[in-house]
Amino acid sequence: MISKDDIGAFSEDAYPETIVYTHKTAIACSGEDNTHPRVWVSVPEIGNGYAKCGYCDIKFMRAE
Ligand SMILES: [Zn+2]
Repeated sequence: MISKDDIGAFSEDAYPETIVYTHKTAIACSGEDNTHPRVWVSVPEIGNGYAKCGYCDIKFMRAE
């Protein structure tokens, strides 16, 4: 028998996070292998979390 908690844990393993660290205030993303049109993503200041691309699940964080 599988509980809801078990399903949630499985989902996280199936879709590992991709986080890109950058010193720039904005970064262009076109997917991991040009899988979507190139878009610019604004990267928040350090301590303000991350920005996520609207097309793919790549997250962008400001590098120190
Ligand atoms: Zn993207």
